[in-house]
Amino acid sequence: MIQRLALFLFLAAQACAAAAFELLVEPVSEHAYALAGDIGPRSAENHALNNTLGFLVTGQGVALIGSGASPGGARLIQQQVATVTEQPIRWVINIGAQDHHWLGNDYFARQGAEILALASTVATQKAHAKNHLKRLQEVLGAEAAAAVTPHYAPQPIPQDAAVLRLGELELRLMRPGNGHFPGDAVLWFEAEKAAFTGDFVFHDRMLGIHPFTPIVQWRNSFNAIAALQPEHVIPGHGRPGDLAQARRDTGDYLHWLVESVGAAIEDWTDLADTIDQLAEAPRFQHLQFYEQWHARNIHQTYLQLESAR
Ligand SMILES: [Zn+2]
Repeated sequence: MIQRLALFLFLAAQACAAAAFELLVEPVSEHAYALAGDIGPRSAENHALNNTLGFLVTGQGVALIGSGASPGGARLIQQQVATVTEQPIRWVINIGAQDHHWLGNDYFARQGAEILALASTVATQKAHAKNHLKRLQEVLGAEAAAAVTPHYAPQPIPQDAAVLRLGELELRLMRPGNGHFPGDAVLWFEAEKAAFTGDFVFHDRMLGIHPFTPIVQWRNSFNAIAALQPEHVIPGHGRPGDLAQARRDTGDYLHWLVESVGAAIEDWTDLADTIDQLAEAPRFQHLQFYEQWHARNIHQTYLQLESAR
């Protein structure tokens, strides 16, 4: 009896764990879909998919935008794509250098998919791969992380923009400038006004400014994306939305940071006082992780703006 109870509890726990993470398929426009992962931190359970990917059904195969962080995550992505179409994944387009954007490449390449990326994206992937693999070991566990093989686009596109004709669709892979990571890119599907922005846009959660995140350039890049006038924004993190949400959750915040911190520096306010004075930013308090990230973002913006003077 006790054994049976133990087995029941074990199975119940397994079912709970399995139900807890879902990679949501969200139709965006006729041919475009988002695959929205978790908002919270990376974990073994979510296969480090705390981000948003996407795909396009081209009529002659699927073009995947982002491949996940591991073979386990890639398998899940493939399963979710298969709920929408029987077309195979023929292309994987990398628009980011963070682990969950591209470390699943190998899984799809082994099945014959072509990996496409700008050279600037590949350069950043190469620069960060070692670090990201090390972090994945902590997140996924040694065994799952050991299965991760970096696989780079074999013929990186040297220009900052290129037209891709995949199946029946014409897409534009472009680098509007630097963003969350240098070398981040955007996939623009003009026919349906859908922008796969990767980490240039965060929805629902607060973005993070890292030492390698040039905030002024990111703000400019955001403005270049907004100038495309997308109707659909598939962000790098968070659920898909429109340009108004992208502005509210990302563009306005970048602008606010640059302007407010810049003004404080002009006034000779020191770092600690600047963080104090700007700690309350009600316009952005709706964003998840505001408490964890906002002060850090002010700090990092201050260091960058001051060293640029
Ligand atoms: Zn990201």
